[in-house]
Amino acid sequence: MENTSDQQLDKPTKGLLQSTDLYEYILETSVYPREPELLKELRDATANHPGCIMSTAPDAGQLMGMLLKLVNAKKTIEIGVYTGYSLLLTALSIPSDGQIIAIDINRETYEIGLPIIRKAGVENKINFIESQALPVLDKLLQDKENEGSFDFAFVDADKNNYLNYHERLLKLVKVGGVIIYDNTLWIGTVARPEEAVSEDKREWRRSVMEFNKSISADGRLEISLAPLGDGMTICRRIC
Ligand code: SAM
Ligand code: CA
Repeated sequence: MENTSDQQLDKPTKGLLQSTDLYEYILETSVYPREPELLKELRDATANHPGCIMSTAPDAGQLMGMLLKLVNAKKTIEIGVYTGYSLLLTALSIPSDGQIIAIDINRETYEIGLPIIRKAGVENKINFIESQALPVLDKLLQDKENEGSFDFAFVDADKNNYLNYHERLLKLVKVGGVIIYDNTLWIGTVARPEEAVSEDKREWRRSVMEFNKSISADGRLEISLAPLGDGMTICRRIC
């Protein structure tokens, strides 16, 4: 084959997204023009916050919104709210009688997005719980009626607890339901040797790598590690 760009596309080790320009193209062409106005407002309200990098990437959010609708999600859980981009997105994607249990240790950041959530008229769908997530999941599991009752879960918090969340969510989410884990490429560090990664990122890098390995071997799920945002692993419970 003479054409080098074709040869590059054939290489199985490289994805297509190798430039910021291409990412910008995707955002400008197919994400931003369709992003709901109030989500954009929430994104803008978060932009100057010191933790703004934590906000869910709009392209990943777009896929998540579609998945919520594809599975007709009505009852959902979110672990890791921050200012509420993924939360508002979820609330806008589920029906008017849908319910979200949204857990975060920090209510202050949730309150940055709350006025916009109110403006969107979806606060009634949200049960925000200020807490560590694990005890909340354990409490939900004490009531047998909660088992297999959730359609969808989004996990976007402390990476060293992903496997702990996973065992609990697999009981809470129904067969056929979807669980999404965010940041499963952990800023690209999963593919770098540990010594090439800054020390503050190493612990969660190891956790994410262990999680990815474990989930790949988990026969209770179908999975897809979609390289959107910082990597999101989409899981469908199959048994
Ligand atoms: N999904 C959010 C969005 O779209 O803006 C971003 C979430 S941010 C990456 C992670 C959040 O997880 C932070 O707000 C943090 O307070 C919360 N968090 C960290 N550890 C937690 C824990 N053990 N239990 C509950 N929330 C936690
Ligand atoms: Ca995230």
